[in-house]
Amino acid sequence: MPELPEVETVRRGLEPAMAGARILRAQVRRPDLRWPLPARMSERLTGARVLRLGRRSKYILADLDTGETLIVHLGMSGRMLVEGAAPGDFHHQRAAPRAHDHVILDMEGGARITFNDARRFGAMDLAPTAAAETHWLLARLGPEPLGNAFTADYLAARLAGRRTPIKAALLDQRIVAGLGNIYVSEALWQAGIHPRRPAGNVSAARLAVLVPAIRAVLTAAIEAGGSSLRDYRQADGELGYFQHSFAAYDREGQPCRRDGCTGTIRRIVQSGRSSYYCSACQR
Ligand SMILES: [Zn+2]
Repeated sequence: MPELPEVETVRRGLEPAMAGARILRAQVRRPDLRWPLPARMSERLTGARVLRLGRRSKYILADLDTGETLIVHLGMSGRMLVEGAAPGDFHHQRAAPRAHDHVILDMEGGARITFNDARRFGAMDLAPTAAAETHWLLARLGPEPLGNAFTADYLAARLAGRRTPIKAALLDQRIVAGLGNIYVSEALWQAGIHPRRPAGNVSAARLAVLVPAIRAVLTAAIEAGGSSLRDYRQADGELGYFQHSFAAYDREGQPCRRDGCTGTIRRIVQSGRSSYYCSACQR
């Protein structure tokens, strides 16, 4: 499942083809993904110019000159494919849509954007741009982990008194938006915090280490172009997925990479998902 760095990588991959360009043709090839697609979606997109391509948590937001914003979530298996804009590559020469190509946007400039989603846990909706932040998918999201509102003081206030494990608290999208299993494991390793520690029991001094650790692992992954574990494709349309090395995630039984630590990475299951941590240096 794509996490925030992967979604940001997709957004950056879409930006050259979409930002500032008009949607010449929008094909909507089924009535629903995870939820029903918006009424008259094709008509509402066709002819619209994309003013700006943003991101909120794991949602890509395309602000249109019609006053609406296209909200896109990749779900579990959703992919955005960009096919190039070679001269003479007209739309009638395009290959027929593949299985699970659900929404296809032909852009001014010649690029074709295809949303392909085999499992259909993805979502798309259209909302007035002025009200996009209060759309039901976005309204309850906590602050962006890379934004100014996400601070150690904020986190301390939100975690105070909580007995839930810190791992679960950081996965709660209402506390901080966009974090998933991989980067929470990595950030807790970097900060030296045990994933089972009760959230309200992490000291202010350690939260002051954790917040920059979260920012650092996300920033490194975004810079590396995102990472993925399964059949995730880069936004540039190329096959394959990004190779990314982790310090803790998926390293069960291997030596801890922290300088001076002789511990071993262990795996436990929390809320049905694997947590990886060093039993020697995470407390
Ligand atoms: Zn260690």
